[in-house]
Amino acid sequence: MKRKEVVVIIVAVVVLIATAIVLWPRRYEATFYPMGGIPFKIVCYGRNMFQFDGDLSAVEDVVTKLEGVFNRYRKLSEISQLNSSAAVAPVAMSSEFARAFALSQHWYKVSGKAFDPTVGPLVGLWKEAGQSGILPTPYDVQKVKELVGLNGIAISSRDRILFSKQGMSLDFGAIAKGLIVDEAVDALKNRGVGRGVVDAGGDGYAFGDGEFRFGIQDPTAGSGERLLGTVDVMQGAVVTSGNYERYVEIDGKRYSHIIDPRTGYPVENALVSATVIGGDAAGADALATALMVLGVDDGISLLKNLGDFEALFIKKIGTDYEVYASEKLAGRLRLDGEWATRRIEEF
Ligand code: AMP
Ligand code: MG
Repeated sequence: MKRKEVVVIIVAVVVLIATAIVLWPRRYEATFYPMGGIPFKIVCYGRNMFQFDGDLSAVEDVVTKLEGVFNRYRKLSEISQLNSSAAVAPVAMSSEFARAFALSQHWYKVSGKAFDPTVGPLVGLWKEAGQSGILPTPYDVQKVKELVGLNGIAISSRDRILFSKQGMSLDFGAIAKGLIVDEAVDALKNRGVGRGVVDAGGDGYAFGDGEFRFGIQDPTAGSGERLLGTVDVMQGAVVTSGNYERYVEIDGKRYSHIIDPRTGYPVENALVSATVIGGDAAGADALATALMVLGVDDGISLLKNLGDFEALFIKKIGTDYEVYASEKLAGRLRLDGEWATRRIEEF
């Protein structure tokens, strides 16, 4: 064989291998940070490199679009604009906003008002208290609490929303990450992805055949530093709500970022985290926050009424922790390290 022919064959083989690498369907994974510091992880199975590139952009588009709807801390977001004008005149909702509102209404009713999307003014009050270091008086809390409750909101037949009092505000913080994950999953499915996982910093959803293993954040460690263990799930959501990351400190005492809308005060029930397994990500997100408000006993009653969800609670007792888990999780939940030595109370 001439030298030239050898070179041609080598080049052809290299091109073939490179093409196979790019076009061969396999598992792809990527993490990006579109929402502050929250890692947004996407896993797609059976995709080639070009397809996955498109999958990633589709998810990025969804996140960008919905951030512009739900982010209360952006002045020009739909929720910010609506909050600043819906007490003056009815404001039209986008279809995404209307869907979030309808879902929130559902979880408000189901959770006995533990999950309440109108909790905004109380969230603001406690955020300010954290910044100033001064506790609000019971009178302040009572006054602000009067602005909270879905009975203060009217919806017209044309999806227009009206607040009954100046100062009311919506806050989708307890459901928005789940909504974004669900929309990202829809976008992937529409692109033909048959199996995958979307996880926005502890709000995860897996779809397609077979089992998926989710890590559950250790509530006693810093964000993403250590896992408490893992849970194996078929299609569905795994969402954790916790007090370990976001809280304010006033006079040396920690106050949760989750508020009990029924009292007006940050929750104080020894729960450090609640993980919900099942359903869609938005529902699991709302439910996980509701469980944090309700505490273990009322939380278990709610779960038993709902039927379709499993959960894991971590409660702090003095310096120790108690673990409560749905009995259906037996064999699928694996606790690591020190957690493995603790007894699991099944319900
Ligand atoms: P999550 O991390 O999903 O539990 O959501 C917590 C966020 O939801 C908070 O930062 C608030 O913005 C908002 N929030 C706090 N308490 C409640 C509540 N009881 N119901 C609905 N949203 C809440
Ligand atoms: Mg939530």
